[in-house]
Amino acid sequence: MATKYIFVSGGVTSSLGKGIIAASLAKLLQARKFRVTIQKFDPYINIDPGTLNPYEHGECYVTEDGAETDLDLGHYERFLNVHTSKANNVTTGKIYKTVIDKEREGAYLGKTVQIIPHITDEIKRRMLLLGKSGKYDIIITELGGTVGDIESTPFIEAVRQLQWELPDEDCILIHLTLVPFLSAAKELKTKPTQHSVRMLQQNGVNPDIIVCRTEHPLPVDVRKKIALFCNVKPNAVIESMDAKSIYEVPLNMMHEKLDEIVLHKLGLENAPAPDLVKWNAFLEKMYHPKGEVDIALVGKYVELQDAYKSILESFVHAGAVNECKVNVHTVHSEYLDENNLGQKLAGMDGVLVAPGFGERGIAGKIKAVQYARENNIPFFGICLGMQMAVIEYSRNVAGLTDAMTTEVNPTTPYPVIDLMEEQKTLTIKGGTMRLGAYDCILEKNSLAHDIYGKTHISERHRHRYEFNNNFKEVLEKAGLKFSGRNPDTGLVEVVELPSHPFFIGVQFHPELKSTVEEPHPIFVAFVKAAKEYKSAR
Ligand code: GLN
Repeated sequence: MATKYIFVSGGVTSSLGKGIIAASLAKLLQARKFRVTIQKFDPYINIDPGTLNPYEHGECYVTEDGAETDLDLGHYERFLNVHTSKANNVTTGKIYKTVIDKEREGAYLGKTVQIIPHITDEIKRRMLLLGKSGKYDIIITELGGTVGDIESTPFIEAVRQLQWELPDEDCILIHLTLVPFLSAAKELKTKPTQHSVRMLQQNGVNPDIIVCRTEHPLPVDVRKKIALFCNVKPNAVIESMDAKSIYEVPLNMMHEKLDEIVLHKLGLENAPAPDLVKWNAFLEKMYHPKGEVDIALVGKYVELQDAYKSILESFVHAGAVNECKVNVHTVHSEYLDENNLGQKLAGMDGVLVAPGFGERGIAGKIKAVQYARENNIPFFGICLGMQMAVIEYSRNVAGLTDAMTTEVNPTTPYPVIDLMEEQKTLTIKGGTMRLGAYDCILEKNSLAHDIYGKTHISERHRHRYEFNNNFKEVLEKAGLKFSGRNPDTGLVEVVELPSHPFFIGVQFHPELKSTVEEPHPIFVAFVKAAKEYKSAR
């Protein structure tokens, strides 16, 4: 079968949840035994979101092969339980860089280099790239941004050209819009949808399916009106009501027959029925918890939910396994100090100290570690959170006063966390951290080994600093255990505190590998420990 391409664009406003719709459709197609992947094309000029502040675009998601990508790739992996890669996230910056580099090489042989055809050719090449690998039957491409944005125009033009080049049944476009409800008029309004579809049509593209985000059910006459004015069949107007959980959206889309109409348009009507047994079992557990726990998430980007997206979702997965609702309370590390520590962390059954960069909020994170350690509250530190755990222990237990990371204090007397050797000569910031999957060997007789149930693991990374092995001996003597190391470099990956009921810090990012079907073992164990802590209290 020829590879099929499904494009998903958005109109009216941003933040409509294109990523979730794309992931939900992908899930339904995967459940019908198709090999599916999703890719995202982002209109911004950054090469990747690695250099973006989390306040701009939320968390930066890292793939196995070390690409720093849009957080929607996290949804794709969590829904599909398959890895994405560098090729799954393309930005305008990447497109232009390739074209400009080629121009410098002289590859265009004296031609004037233009948006059409050179930029659009490069966009199309990348849009088809994963399809050419032979690994997938269906490629879903989410177009970032909103139709009508200046930056989005070349991407829409590339889709127009592909629709013209590929057979009709190999390439379709789904357009996601908002149908607002005017409470004064008590009416759902279709005009913004009409306008945004018209904008697509002005660019020569007609959507095959329109998915309407709405807070109220779409009556038949509203669907008909959208169909008529937007030039799609009435059964191709799909209602997407606000859902209680993002994980319910695949079922809602199935109920609306989105998968059926997509398969019909792609000429794949004979597909098997969807098998969602595992997915439904997860939902069943998620919706019927037998208890609940309260976990503090200590970080400095707490104003924006998306900054810790993967961590929050990992708790949803781990909560379902434990049949337990996890109430995550974000605690702003910048405003956490001696005076309010007890009050802010009172009643918590677990403390997670989040990843991060730079000095802001560091002192509060160290305090949070100390509180969890001294009060025997289950503790989980991720990346910077692990580094803070090492600093706290060095200062308050091992007697290394003013121990610090050189990220914050380059002249500390005790640089227990220091820049990795290979980082010392780097001057370029983009894409130069230690990124992606690296192996780790766990010591037997450790909490980490109990959690994973094996010795060899591989986890994803995104950092420049590391535990300074010169301090290993002194900290071990003081009671800290280094239970995971990289086999090639000796770099410390896991620290734990055997004298504490549950205290673990990891240099890697386990949250990037937790999926609905494979919740991450550390999150699962942490929630379990929180449950036990709560019931013992
Ligand atoms: N800033 C720290 C480092 O670069 C931690 C990074 C992180 O938490 N992702 O090592």
